[in-house]
Amino acid sequence: KDSRQIDGGLFPRKVVPVLLPMPAERAYSYALPEGVDAVPGQIVQVPLGPRLVAGLVWDGPADVINPDKLREIVQVFDCPPIVEPMRRFIDWVSAYTLSPPGLVARMALRAPAAFDPEPMINALRLTGEQPERLTAARERVLAQAGDGLAWSKSGLAHAAGVSPGVIDGLAAQGVFEAVKLPPPPVVAAPDPDFSPAELEIDQIAAADALRATVAKGGFAVTLLDGVTGSGKTEVYFEAIAEAIRQGRQVLILLPEIALTSAFLDRFHDRFGARPAEWHSELAPRTREKVWRQTAEGRVNVVAGARSALFLPFSDLGLIIVDEEHDPAYKQEDRVFYNARDMAVVRARLADIPVVLASATPSIESRVNAAQGRYHHLVLSGRYADAGLPDLKLVDLRRHAPARGGFLSPVLLKAMAETLERGEQSLLFLNRRGYAPLTLCRVCGHRFECPQCSSWLVEHRFRAQLQCHHCGHNEPTPQACPSCGTLDHLVACGPGIERIAEEADKHFPKARTIVLSSDMTGGTRRLRIELEAIAKGEADIVIGTQLVAKGHNFPLMTLVGVVDADLGLSNGDPRAAERTYQLLSQVTGRAGRSGRKSHGLIQTFQPQHPVMQALASGDPEAFYERETEERRLAVLPPFGRLASVIISAATRPEAESHARALRGCAPSSSGIMVLGPAEAPLALIRGRYRFRLLVHGARGNDMQAFLKQMLAKGPKPRGSVQVQVDIDPQSF
Ligand code: ADP
Ligand code: ZN
Repeated sequence: KDSRQIDGGLFPRKVVPVLLPMPAERAYSYALPEGVDAVPGQIVQVPLGPRLVAGLVWDGPADVINPDKLREIVQVFDCPPIVEPMRRFIDWVSAYTLSPPGLVARMALRAPAAFDPEPMINALRLTGEQPERLTAARERVLAQAGDGLAWSKSGLAHAAGVSPGVIDGLAAQGVFEAVKLPPPPVVAAPDPDFSPAELEIDQIAAADALRATVAKGGFAVTLLDGVTGSGKTEVYFEAIAEAIRQGRQVLILLPEIALTSAFLDRFHDRFGARPAEWHSELAPRTREKVWRQTAEGRVNVVAGARSALFLPFSDLGLIIVDEEHDPAYKQEDRVFYNARDMAVVRARLADIPVVLASATPSIESRVNAAQGRYHHLVLSGRYADAGLPDLKLVDLRRHAPARGGFLSPVLLKAMAETLERGEQSLLFLNRRGYAPLTLCRVCGHRFECPQCSSWLVEHRFRAQLQCHHCGHNEPTPQACPSCGTLDHLVACGPGIERIAEEADKHFPKARTIVLSSDMTGGTRRLRIELEAIAKGEADIVIGTQLVAKGHNFPLMTLVGVVDADLGLSNGDPRAAERTYQLLSQVTGRAGRSGRKSHGLIQTFQPQHPVMQALASGDPEAFYERETEERRLAVLPPFGRLASVIISAATRPEAESHARALRGCAPSSSGIMVLGPAEAPLALIRGRYRFRLLVHGARGNDMQAFLKQMLAKGPKPRGSVQVQVDIDPQSF
């Protein structure tokens, strides 16, 4: 007997498992209505309590439930089923991240209106019937439509140069019949041979290798490693062209998709059409079209943020992860995952190649390449021999800025020279606002967020104090709230607004642009400003990490790093790697068009290995040292880590739950639990946070260990929440 059939009442009904987009550990059982069938991957509408929700018909037998309680599927959507490799991916991500499969499935179902087919377009086709009277206009219409194809009324009127009324008249006489056309594609089809670049010798070798990998098919990971401007994008475009020739779909993951209109234009230049975009700022209609047409196989190439990994590709043939080291690939919300790592898993389950591209690959990917798990392709120089910027350290102990300032005389001089040449300078400081700390000179009061363990950051343009963790803000007061003294508040330390003020003071005639993610006007305004910079409409740009990513500013020849030590002191073992990646990326903005360019890196620690790696232009020694330290400490990628964050409305609740959980850790020779200790941000949005760090050597089953601990431990009650983060970003 079919295991999916159970005896319920008089007639056996077919029962299928349906995965619902909510935090449920298992698929629920639903009965199929008479005469309706459904296969795994199909999207269905089912009743859940008083509501109707969309779910995914899942694989395997349904749980047997009481026939009286069995409810019926309301409808099977007319939508291509989510394919098997994608379903296995959902299972895999769920098991790996310890997130309920329903929550992972929900990420794949984020376009509810797309489950119904897009409406067909009304169109007209010649019937062969002749019109009663032939005017010149009518003749033009008949000639135009004589190809036997269907036309939309407005399209035909336009092509024939007549008013739509002419066509109505012909239709009324039976010359045309009404037919339906499929909706137009959301993007035109890319042409793999539209405009290939002429590659240089290194690039040819790398492109040939990638093309061969794609042509051969099957799972393979390639690390494409080359300094900024070496042509990695041109090279992976050739891999994409090959996949398109094979008629397969391509996914390109980018860390900051909203700001990559330049990337889309470049893709257009190469392939004669733009890729479909996928990110949180898409208009809902476009979003639905992209989702639907990706499922239908009508979209060939998608460029998207990490969430694009969960699009329902019908025949994915290649994944590219650009800037694979970028922390933006980590999602730390509900389902905690790293899209770079999950892209490799997605590729393995679909048995297709994946390319990881970066000028500063992560230690994880470097080790994988060194150990032969990944192919390693290296582009060693900039395209057309454009020189890399000449990087120099500015020792702030010897070249102190003027009192109250943050720009050293060396940097100011270089800026003056750059201005004189009519070129652009970039001042980089990874801190928004005016000053990170405000205190009262009289009583020492410091402005702190009422809901987080963090200082309030002054934003002078807005006259506000803001918390960068929860968004809390208040007007900057005149008087100290603690001692009441007027006008004695001081700003401590720099943010980009303060650097802009200092630059203005020194170069009052220069045109400056300040760029950060909290600018009014959002992404649109940012895009406009970025274009203005590229066109040379600014002399000095002051920005956060946002300006570090991907942009091509031809006139930029000087990059000044205001505080290179900023990210180094937070105690995180990944801090040095991150700082190196960020600073080499930001200094790489200079000299992209071949002009002589400079980077000046202000630091109090010129001997630090990160600074040495930057100044020497040779990161090998630094990477080797970092890798060796990880190896000795059995940290990723040589060991495995998970963090368990326990949060609650009160400190004792959070702490006692964390302790109880710690007490339930199974005894295991290979895995250790550290803590509980206060989490790096001990208070966020009024929630107190404790952390357990789970650490084991490679090859240990962390997931099994964590599951046991969570199952045996107390269930979170009241305000307590427990969140598991496998492979945390910082540790
Ligand atoms: P990366 O991705 O490594 O930073 P890009 O692919 O963006 O490098 O190349 C840097 C610049 O050089 C781009 O403007 C690109 O158009 C140009 N470029 C690279 N290789 C070629 C080539 N073979 N022919 C023409 N232009 C190239
Ligand atoms: Zn806050």
